[in-house]
Amino acid sequence: MSDATTHAIAHAIAQNLAQVEGRIEAACVRAGRQREEVTLIAVSKTRSVAEIRAALGCGVRHLGENRIEEVEPKVAALREEGITQAIWHMIGHVQSRKARSVVALCDTIHSVDSLRLAERLDRHAADLGRRVPVLLELNVSGEESKFGFCAHDEAELERFVVEAAALEGLTALDVVGLMTMAPIVPDPELARPVFRRLATVREHLRKRLPFTSWNELSMGMTDDYGVAIEEGATMVRIGRAIFGHRTEEAQAT
Ligand SMILES: *Cc1c(COP(=O)(O)O)cnc(C)c1O
Repeated sequence: MSDATTHAIAHAIAQNLAQVEGRIEAACVRAGRQREEVTLIAVSKTRSVAEIRAALGCGVRHLGENRIEEVEPKVAALREEGITQAIWHMIGHVQSRKARSVVALCDTIHSVDSLRLAERLDRHAADLGRRVPVLLELNVSGEESKFGFCAHDEAELERFVVEAAALEGLTALDVVGLMTMAPIVPDPELARPVFRRLATVREHLRKRLPFTSWNELSMGMTDDYGVAIEEGATMVRIGRAIFGHRTEEAQAT
């Protein structure tokens, strides 16, 4: 890649980040929240090491990826250059056979979507001598295409509380909160009920399982992070608004 191209990438990412930062701040002001309450996770899936390097150069620390096969070479390439400040978040569905590498390479896992997967991750984490913060992924919209614990109605919520309580027994996983993906909708306002529901489920868990800290709410992406912050998001996962559009086939998770 030519120096001019590298420079153009870095310039575009810096501008995009400034705009995203401004919008996060504005949403925090609207919601009466402090900027420090919201962690920006730059979703770097499908992006090159050059793009990631540029984002890190602009002060980004948190990177989100949905395929462990992509994390491995990226971590290796950055390490080779002596770049070690990145904090890696797994945000995509984790296949059983990839559980070990996910635990080994990622700092936080947002996409724990079943008790079975949690138990597997826990065994690998214990084995590797790691304690891993995780979030439980909830399908609150009821969309069949989505992964996650179901918590669409009160009966499902009750079942979920029982499973969440079982997760508390796992010693190498530290459950720190909840994650969800809103449906793709033309108007971010239409995603608001999904975010509000996640916050409500979190309050319910706080009452029912008070021995755990359910502090994190990972919700909000490029099209709806402002609304998510208004509804209490503590982690927003933003890809396109920082790095530009992805090609269609690369979007599939
Ligand atoms: C791709 C992805 C994002 C970021 O999506 P953008 O629309 O690019 O902001 C957030 N969360 C998950 C789980 C993703 O797979």
